[in-house]
Amino acid sequence: MSAIEVFADNLGNYLEPEQVNLVRRAYFYAEQAHDGQTRRSGEPYVTHPLAVANILADMHMDHQSLMAAMLHDVIEDTGIPKDALVEQFGDTVAELVDGVSKLTQMTFESKAEAQAENFQKMALAMARDIRVILVKLADRLHNMRTLGALAPEKRRRIAKETLEIYAPIANRLGMHSLSTEFEDLGFKAMYPMRSMLIDRAVRNARGNRKELLNRILESLQACLEREGLQGKVMGREKHLYGIYQKMRGKKKSFNEIMDVYAFRIIVDKPDTCYRVLGAVHSLYKPFPGRFKDYIAIPKANGYQSLHTTLFGMHGVPIEIQIRTDEMEELANNGIAAHWVYKSKDEVINGNHARTRQWLKSVLELQQNAGNSLEFIENVKIDLFPDEVYIFTPKGRIMELPKGSTPVDFAYAVHTDIGNSCIACRVNRRLAPLSEPLESGETVEIITAPGARPNPAWLSFVITGKARSNIRHFLKHQRHSESIALGERLLDKVLASFGTQLSEIPEARVQAVLTDCGMELMEDLLADIGLGNRMAYVVARRLLASEGGSEEEAQKVSPDNDSDSDEKPLAIRGTEGLVVSFARCCNPIPGDPIVGYLSSGKGMVIHQENCRNLADNRHNSEKILNLAWDKDVSGEFTVELRVELEHQRGIIAQLATGITVADASIDKISVDERDGRVSVVQLVVRVRDRLHLSQLIKRIRNLKGVMRITRLKN
Ligand code: MN
Repeated sequence: MSAIEVFADNLGNYLEPEQVNLVRRAYFYAEQAHDGQTRRSGEPYVTHPLAVANILADMHMDHQSLMAAMLHDVIEDTGIPKDALVEQFGDTVAELVDGVSKLTQMTFESKAEAQAENFQKMALAMARDIRVILVKLADRLHNMRTLGALAPEKRRRIAKETLEIYAPIANRLGMHSLSTEFEDLGFKAMYPMRSMLIDRAVRNARGNRKELLNRILESLQACLEREGLQGKVMGREKHLYGIYQKMRGKKKSFNEIMDVYAFRIIVDKPDTCYRVLGAVHSLYKPFPGRFKDYIAIPKANGYQSLHTTLFGMHGVPIEIQIRTDEMEELANNGIAAHWVYKSKDEVINGNHARTRQWLKSVLELQQNAGNSLEFIENVKIDLFPDEVYIFTPKGRIMELPKGSTPVDFAYAVHTDIGNSCIACRVNRRLAPLSEPLESGETVEIITAPGARPNPAWLSFVITGKARSNIRHFLKHQRHSESIALGERLLDKVLASFGTQLSEIPEARVQAVLTDCGMELMEDLLADIGLGNRMAYVVARRLLASEGGSEEEAQKVSPDNDSDSDEKPLAIRGTEGLVVSFARCCNPIPGDPIVGYLSSGKGMVIHQENCRNLADNRHNSEKILNLAWDKDVSGEFTVELRVELEHQRGIIAQLATGITVADASIDKISVDERDGRVSVVQLVVRVRDRLHLSQLIKRIRNLKGVMRITRLKN
């Protein structure tokens, strides 16, 4: 019989005939796809997927997992597209194969140890269906078993990855058999000498230990019999990598480790576990403080057992684990144990059903145990991928909440990077700063010196760190800009009195500050800049004589001489957050302007003749004369209304005309007046009035344009 027929025959033990047929079909598909390919060892390639399926069948995994195992290298190695698999084997199996391929493409390069854990999480988060991980683990196990055929360099790389990533994942999922095999194979490949020495020492010790081991075993069996308890007693040996880690980590000598005699007793039900415990505790004296009840308080991955250590004859330490058959099965196969068919007519619904069942059972155990936090931390990631894992350009992995954007990422890397970021590349292509990131992406943040956070970022960042840093920065910036504006406003008024701040006696300044309930001049200036206090009033107070009343202060009046040549405050356009341009009249450089101080908001700049200011005109203390600075910079918004004859392509021509005139469009909307005439509303950005007039001229010259006006109010 051929290998596949032997395999199919065995599957009959727990799968339905039609399921076995599907697995068989997947095998033949893979055989054809890999036709002509061989493994390093020289065997036909298809022996590998078959072996992977065998590993999964030993764990009694379902037929879809086995099909995915057969096909797991097809997308990656033969160029057959995923769609073809969907057509042949359905969505679920194709998704599984695709998931395994994606994991295969991720290689673990960083040497940092802390990275390994994030990488494990990333692998889990990327696999929406936990069976992807199980197939991948089986794939890796077969590759580890056949590692010998590879070049030493590659062998070491794979072994390292296995030790750092796959063994811990298997452990997280409670798959003890798998994780110990990973560890021993990885250890052997990474450190052949150390592994060989420990192996040899274990063999030697085994001979010496044999007699004592048997005597203890017999006495344990006899003890159970006396008490009328059913149980299977087995000697237990530590695996090589476990011994190595104990020697390194706990600094124990080989003899200390080997001096311990370890046994496992398997019984029928939990109640019996405790009875057996009682029996062995009466046989030998227990070590104080070494008893662990993992039945009542299971480990994070669901592991359950009783552990105790006894003083044997001549004080030899005896370690004993007591558990039920079911606990034993779970301890060995973990999550995979839940795919075991308990009866042939059991219905599987949904690919997550069994995983959920496992999670649920473990979660219940954990909740009873009261340490569910640790559990959630360990397991949530495999089915609740609410985190994304992002690579920095140097290969470091950052863990971020799902939905995070490049700005969140930038702040996660460093506050300074966040504050000065201007653009980003995701997988080397330029991407918007607001684009949500996905696991496995590499993100590079582009920064510029002097760049500042944009208030608009607050609308899309999702991490607290980004949000609070942006807020903090803006608040700080606003504060310093308020101070600067307040100082300019106060200086201007003081100048009209023929003096300046530095000439006011310190004591007078202090008196005014105390009056205002403030400690620092900066705060008073900021208050002026924000429009909460009139510069004029503050100036008069500063100029009043010591102890002088408000009335006296009012007698102080501006110098007539300086009043005549009083210069309006100059606006540069770079004042920042405390100076804004009114949306009603959209002033641009060249327009006559005035400033309106609005409490708490700073200064809003309007056109001099803006209708919105008409009511405030008499409130002259709040209105300031302004002028544009010679070196004004930036782009300013204007609103235009264009009436044009409707014709094909006219909007595109309009847009091109604006671009050619070196202005940028913020908004464009078209209203059809009647069949013939359209009215276009434009919001464009220009440098100044001159630039605007050039733009208008250009638009007016376009064929079909009838009228163009700049909108105010
Ligand atoms: Mn493979």
